[in-house]
Amino acid sequence: MSSCCKQKQNQPVKEAKLTVALCGNPNCGKTTLFNVLTGSNQKVGNWPGVTVEQKLGRYKADQSVAIVDTPGIYSLSPFTIDEQVAHHYLMEGKPDLIINIVDSTNLERNLFLTSQLAELDVPVVVALNMQDEAKAKGISINSQVLERAFGCKFFSISAAKNQGVEQLMKYCSEGNVQSKKCFVYSDEVEKGAAALADVAARAENKRWVCLKLLEKDKTIMKMCDLSQEEAQRVAEQNAQVQKAVGDIVSARIAEERYERISQIVKEAQKVDLSEVKQEKAQRVTEKIDRIVLNKWLAFPIFALVMALVFYVSIGGLGGFLTDLINEQFTPWLQDTVNGWFSASPEPQKIEWLRSLVVDGIIAGVMSVAGFVPQIMLLFGFIAVLEASGYMSRIAFITDRLLNKIGLGGRSFVSMILGCGCSVPAIMATRTIKNINERNATITLTPFMPCSAKLAIISFFTTHLLGGNALFAVSFYFLSIFAVILGGLIMKVFRRRKTDASDTFIMELPTYRAPTVGNVAKQMWDRGKAFLIKAGTIIFTASVILWLLQSFNWRFEMVSTENSMLASIGRVIAPLFVPLGFNDMNCGWQFAISTLTGIAAKETVVTTLQILLPQGIEGSISALGAYSFVVYNLLTIPCVAAISASFSEQGRWKNGLLSALFQIAVAYVVSLAIYQLGTLAQKYTTAFIVAASCVAIAFLLYFSVRYVVTHRGCNYECDHCPHNSDCKKTR
Ligand code: GDP
Ligand code: MG
Repeated sequence: MSSCCKQKQNQPVKEAKLTVALCGNPNCGKTTLFNVLTGSNQKVGNWPGVTVEQKLGRYKADQSVAIVDTPGIYSLSPFTIDEQVAHHYLMEGKPDLIINIVDSTNLERNLFLTSQLAELDVPVVVALNMQDEAKAKGISINSQVLERAFGCKFFSISAAKNQGVEQLMKYCSEGNVQSKKCFVYSDEVEKGAAALADVAARAENKRWVCLKLLEKDKTIMKMCDLSQEEAQRVAEQNAQVQKAVGDIVSARIAEERYERISQIVKEAQKVDLSEVKQEKAQRVTEKIDRIVLNKWLAFPIFALVMALVFYVSIGGLGGFLTDLINEQFTPWLQDTVNGWFSASPEPQKIEWLRSLVVDGIIAGVMSVAGFVPQIMLLFGFIAVLEASGYMSRIAFITDRLLNKIGLGGRSFVSMILGCGCSVPAIMATRTIKNINERNATITLTPFMPCSAKLAIISFFTTHLLGGNALFAVSFYFLSIFAVILGGLIMKVFRRRKTDASDTFIMELPTYRAPTVGNVAKQMWDRGKAFLIKAGTIIFTASVILWLLQSFNWRFEMVSTENSMLASIGRVIAPLFVPLGFNDMNCGWQFAISTLTGIAAKETVVTTLQILLPQGIEGSISALGAYSFVVYNLLTIPCVAAISASFSEQGRWKNGLLSALFQIAVAYVVSLAIYQLGTLAQKYTTAFIVAASCVAIAFLLYFSVRYVVTHRGCNYECDHCPHNSDCKKTR
């Protein structure tokens, strides 16, 4: 039996009475529907690339129904890894039913996939989602016309508003789903497909397999495990049909599909252009885009938005709330617990326990838990940017820029996810087709300040950098600088040039007002994850750190200076002297905290809180602190992200190279900051003169180059009729 007929199912699905796969184009609302159906909290975003693996859940109202959320696909010809995940599941996981989610505001494009799903052997029910938005745009869809054309049932729903979902599920659970109608193609194609019927005889999806074989689809040919003779027949049929239609077979089939869909949509869809709301929604989106996508304004606006977000969440309200916890609540908690211990009959006997609880656990866990307000605020803002549709615009405007450093707009999606956590960000690189671009993105994404690193930024900004939120913003821009620098270095050293970065096609969705529920959910999710981490990993790390800093190698209780931790720290501390970690003689404490940060980045702060109980002030200079934060932002991420990087790159050698590269970039950038900063402090005037000279030289160089390349040219580059050579020089 061919492998396309094999049943490979996950355990929870196996026990289910009915397995329903949610399938559709990216951004059509699959995850929103999945969350409504299962009551789970998967990430939803108004941009593609958010779901890159399939997710399993149970229907809330009937636990015997399993629901599978799959990554978005435009067609059943998989190109990127996430598309392959969806394709593989549909081919081999073989669900009992597919709910094909269709974005009603984009009917024609979405129905292309519907026409392909109709050819599979699995029953299909179509959910016309985003009805609320379609209505607002004056779009009305006659589902009976669609039902006649595709032979399956169409339901109008709005997943975000939980409208029509119950009827859809009721029909699906009843189990008498209608059979479908496949498109009938031109005679040449139909004859070619029929001639391959015996080759596809072993497959369950015969018609689909015949058509795909006729197209010489590599995935299907591999899945069907063709003999040499069968492969020969496929090639002959393909050549014959190609000759008859005068076009590549797959292109011809796609064209026929589009023609047919176009006719159906013409009949089924009415757009009422007089609808005031439609014009209003479009006008607003166009007006905003004219400003935020403007050639000159796009980047300054982006910088301003991000600076504002960081300023409010770290400096303003977030800073105030965190201070309240760190300066009021934590000391109060420590005093209270100290009071309990001293009230005991023999306090000296349990001094070790007091030290463990107060100086170890409370100091360690609260050092991290205190940052929850800032983290929640930051993620609230990021959720607003994502849900509104602005994030898609940022990906769009950065695509061309990122191409210059060997990355693309899809890499940017990962980078933004990386501001939350590097692990899902690294997984999101599955949407990148070009292997070099993908590996580069995996290596560079951890440079972004994840929520854990935010705790380090915030801690040092508050305690050593005068609480100035501009420093926090500067770390964010430094991370972007490191991505650009890293990208350029990797581009120079890339041995093998592959095809150029794959074209980045991203829809720019209409601006949507973010729902309070979605924003609150993301804030809560992030805050909760952070607290759980504080209660588990950080708790354990605090206990281990306390043990290591309280005992020597002979397990005698000693002062921190004579502890095991101090002796390990003193071995590695010299490595970090050039970076300024020891500029106030506390080098080993800072060196060891960079090491413990590998467990989880928050542990850097926890370690310092435990090792420097008198407070961090006076233990490192402001410049040393800045260099220390930069090193920890850019060096290898936590173990979870390191293992994601190794497994996603496939080969351990690539994973190792990534890690070494990250350490090297972190070291060099911190070294440059500390050494140049020291020079600047010593020879301030000379430094300002030198920096000004370099800036003027750069300005002159680029001005002259601009004048030379534009001499005698009155065209805008994008409309230039003889642009190619001139463009290449810029
Ligand atoms: P997926 O990529 O298919 O998983 O799409 P998501 O579930 O992540 O949703 C994409 C965007 O569409 C998000 O901003 C959702 O809030 C939004 N969305 C989903 N369903 C609806 C709906 O019924 N109405 C409206 N107005 N927006 C929706
Ligand atoms: Mg999704």
